[in-house]
Amino acid sequence: MEYKLRCIGVLTSGGDSPGMNAAIRAVTRTAIYNGIRVKAIYRGYKGLITGEIKEFQTQDVSNIIQQGGTILKTARCQEFTTPEGRRIAYETLQREEIDALVVIGGDGTFTGARVFAQEYNIPIVGLPGTIDNDLWGTDVTIGYDTALNTIVDAVDKIRDTASSHERLFFVEVMGRDAGFLALNSAIAAGAEAAIIPERETQEEQLESLIKNGFRKSKNSSIVIVAESKETGGAQALAEKMRVHHPEYDVRVTILGHIQRGGSPTAIDRILASRMGAAAIDALLDEQRSIMIGIQNDKIVHVPFTKAIKDDKQVNPEKVAILQQLSI
Ligand code: ATP
Repeated sequence: MEYKLRCIGVLTSGGDSPGMNAAIRAVTRTAIYNGIRVKAIYRGYKGLITGEIKEFQTQDVSNIIQQGGTILKTARCQEFTTPEGRRIAYETLQREEIDALVVIGGDGTFTGARVFAQEYNIPIVGLPGTIDNDLWGTDVTIGYDTALNTIVDAVDKIRDTASSHERLFFVEVMGRDAGFLALNSAIAAGAEAAIIPERETQEEQLESLIKNGFRKSKNSSIVIVAESKETGGAQALAEKMRVHHPEYDVRVTILGHIQRGGSPTAIDRILASRMGAAAIDALLDEQRSIMIGIQNDKIVHVPFTKAIKDDKQVNPEKVAILQQLSI
């Protein structure tokens, strides 16, 4: 069958991340530059089911590169996980004459894309848009650098009050299944430790912290903790610390959704622009069911199956560096 790319659809799905707008802009403008029409799909996969779709011209993506969030909105869509939901989504694509999709999101978004592409033989290319940086095959994801900088900025401020009062702070950051934000923000903010899901249990990590006498001569300490539904995260660890070390003045700060928002850094804007352009290049090159990644500053194509399934490891050298530098 002859492959024709006349019109693409673009959507953002799952959790929002700063730089998604820069990616939408790059996808839209690169497509139009190549003579391809662009249809913006609102609220992720939900928009494919409800038909909330608008054709974009270049001016529809003006003045958005610096904005956090996503102008296309995002949503979690249970219906799309069912064959019936995806059938309706496919009918929408046919009605709208959309030949291919660019989906911007995390592993859930790519899992849905992979199933949909397989069922209906649709070319789909994904862009990694998540602050967690937890996708295999790409050194970084869109939004990660901004979130990291937001955390470091917040921790710097907490440090001022922590040292004034000689307190021990547990600062909880996002990254339920991935410690990239916690580990790297700990290094950048000069924190005493990072408690991350890739290593032993949170409790074991806390034990070894205590055993190593992490407080030593310092008059304030900051421990960055990756959020965890199972263990209760920073709050639960602080409770245990109060029991073990009643002499410490322990405080907890949960950064929460502040980490998701804000204007994207230059690094995220450039990353999103390159990846957005690469998504259209890939579709023109008849690629499908791949995520655009970046490795050693080069654009790469990563099959959805690998991006979703393979585990991206935290760098053990960084774990060691954090330990060494917090003596
Ligand atoms: P984040 O990493 O920020 O959480 P995400 O892309 O992983 O982003 P999810 O909520 O996991 O976010 O997934 C986004 C959407 O993808 C879901 O709401 C659903 O519509 C679709 N999706 C996820 N898993 C599947 C699946 N197994 N089959 C079909 N669709 C799926």
